[in-house]
Amino acid sequence: MITPERPDQLVGQVLGHRYRLDTLIALGGMSRVYRAMDLNLHRSVAVKVLDDNFASESLVRERFESEAIIAANISHPNVVSIRDHAISGSHVYLVMEYVRGQNLAEVIEERGRFTPRQMLSILERICSGLRAAHLEGIVHRDMKPANVLLSDNGEIKITDFGLARAASAHTQSATLVATLSHVSPELVSGAPSDSRSDIYAVGIMIYQMLTGQLPFPMTNPAAMMKHHLDSPMPMPSNLVPGLSEDLDELVRYCTEKDPERRPQNAGFLLDDVIQIRSTLTDDELDLDAESLGDVSDLAPLAAAAMPTTVQQRLDEWQRHRDEQRQPWWMDEDTLGETAAASSEDYSAVPDDEATTVISTSDATEVLDLREAQTTTVPRMVNELDAPETALSSATAAYSREDLDQFEGSGSAPTATDLAVPAAQGKVSARAQKQEQKRAAKEWRKTAQVPTHQLVRPKTGGRRAVITVVLILVVALVAAGAWFFGRGPGTIIRVPSLTGMLQTQAVSQFDSQGVPVRVNSVYDDEVAVGRVVQSKPNTGESLMKFQGVNLLVSRGPELFEIPALQGLSQTEATSRLADKGLTKLTTSQEYSSSVEEGKVISSSPASGEMASRKNTISLTLSRGPAPVQVPSVLGLSHEQAKQKFNDVGLKLTVGEKQYSSDIAPELVVAQSAQNKTVPYGSTITVNLSKGPELLQVPSVLGQSLTEATATLEAAGFTVSNRSMLGGFSDTVRMQTPLNKQAERGSEVSLYTF
Ligand code: ATP
Repeated sequence: MITPERPDQLVGQVLGHRYRLDTLIALGGMSRVYRAMDLNLHRSVAVKVLDDNFASESLVRERFESEAIIAANISHPNVVSIRDHAISGSHVYLVMEYVRGQNLAEVIEERGRFTPRQMLSILERICSGLRAAHLEGIVHRDMKPANVLLSDNGEIKITDFGLARAASAHTQSATLVATLSHVSPELVSGAPSDSRSDIYAVGIMIYQMLTGQLPFPMTNPAAMMKHHLDSPMPMPSNLVPGLSEDLDELVRYCTEKDPERRPQNAGFLLDDVIQIRSTLTDDELDLDAESLGDVSDLAPLAAAAMPTTVQQRLDEWQRHRDEQRQPWWMDEDTLGETAAASSEDYSAVPDDEATTVISTSDATEVLDLREAQTTTVPRMVNELDAPETALSSATAAYSREDLDQFEGSGSAPTATDLAVPAAQGKVSARAQKQEQKRAAKEWRKTAQVPTHQLVRPKTGGRRAVITVVLILVVALVAAGAWFFGRGPGTIIRVPSLTGMLQTQAVSQFDSQGVPVRVNSVYDDEVAVGRVVQSKPNTGESLMKFQGVNLLVSRGPELFEIPALQGLSQTEATSRLADKGLTKLTTSQEYSSSVEEGKVISSSPASGEMASRKNTISLTLSRGPAPVQVPSVLGLSHEQAKQKFNDVGLKLTVGEKQYSSDIAPELVVAQSAQNKTVPYGSTITVNLSKGPELLQVPSVLGQSLTEATATLEAAGFTVSNRSMLGGFSDTVRMQTPLNKQAERGSEVSLYTF
């Protein structure tokens, strides 16, 4: 069994009304594999059911399904064939042919390692199946021994196509860890995988088959990845002394760190493997066969050991015959029986193997090999065309003898040469047989292609291809020289263009054949129509064909001044800053209409346009202007009040005053007359009480001096009116006398 059977909740269920899950045979990283019964066709199948947690993820599910469809298109005996894929309830599943047997990992685990012959037999089939995938453009991505199935009846099949791709869309857990042992350096470093990544994994598998262990120890994932990236691949012969250098070379070739240096796909690798197999001696192929067994000893592989090419089949046939058949000089009857027995041996292999034993194309391959040595034996081609019948006839046996002899001599046999053995009879048959075996071995060693060459020998066709490639290379070099020397690839340095007129700059590049693209940009500094900047910039280099971008000025970008009147300075500044206008100056003006501290106006005014480099002037209000106090003397109280009101002043009435000049109730005095006072100031006015009347004292009999002093003290003025020459100084008369008179009025004194 592939894995131990375990109980499982899906066991016993029928998926899609058709597939009854009988036994769980493997638990994979993201799926379970069951042996199941196809109830329609009554045959065993393998059903791989995607785990529920993956099945609910649409991305993984879509990839699972699409990859299943791709894998179903690979039809090859060495690839597990996909029969169906479907969804049943919550289950997403694939139906495959059921391969009864073990996977390669289990076989390596059991056996330890293989002989080179065993390894090559398995490897050829792996390459063959993988080649079919690579030809379809499919990369397996998860090549490892666990994905190679060895059936009990000798088939070798690659499985798990496509799941690696589906898995890569999901978590990196189980699948990636499992794959780390075979992951290629390019995948580790994040590059996408291609067929060469599969080749790398196959290289690791070759190492495993030859040594029974992995090349790098399974420590932690990081260490593993580092090994794949940096560590030199150990050679299998280090562990298995005596192993052919060619096998070391094969491992080294497949596991080159640089994918370019590996076989580019499984087809090329298969060619190399066949070539190596054909050049190794029996001793090299069967190294340690005593302990490890022959191909036929590898029980499940007994039939699978059938070679794939005619040369290998003939080698194999020869070896098989050396071991089992009767001596070649037997009489024709016995020979016929022997040939028939050999034919039965081969008929024991599965039908599909038998029908491909010798095809027309394979026969042609034999002729090519012989041409490499000497002339051909055309008769063989016809006989090989019909192998089943030919093998049981004497003619066929003769043809095989032809080949033995041909191999033994190292040159092509003539018709006479071929006739000789039959005529000689049985006399020295044993000695001849031994000699022929020795010669055949020698021929194998010397007549075949060199052992270390891992690429196919050059043919005339290949030489022609190389010539064409060389011509192309020369043409490319010449074209490159022109391209980079004088053509569009010429490197130029961008001159200083800033401020240059667009027309001048464009014509400068036009003359050099450099394409120019012009884009206009706002610029506050550079005048309209002149170059602001170039891309690449001044001093930088470019290839002519890349062209230059010129940024030409369309002048400064203009913004409309928003409405600002009545806003505080802070508000106005922020409104302007919103437009990127940050250069501001302020001034103040009296305004009777705009509150003090608020914007009266701006320059440019609201609605006009300005650029970022313009300075915006804001005029802020200082409030109303001061007022010159008008004269209201002689006006009545109401008149004075109105007059003050007109200029923004208020009026208050003070104490009344005597006035000889101003009639009573008219303004006789005011404050701040003709002065400038703040708007709204209050002015005091005094209304007239009319003139002030005083009692004129009598100064009669007083001397003039005394009388004058008395009257002046009483608020009057004095006038002296002397009479009769003024000989007396005494006041004899006065006017007015004993009456009231206005303060300051004149009192006349008369002396005589
Ligand atoms: P992993 O994620 O570990 O690679 P998986 O879920 O992708 O596993 P497979 O690698 O396809 O599953 O299969 C797991 C195992 O199931 C195989 O190693 C093999 O033992 C068994 N198996 C797969 N396909 C078949 C089949 N067609 N017939 C018989 N056994 C099979």
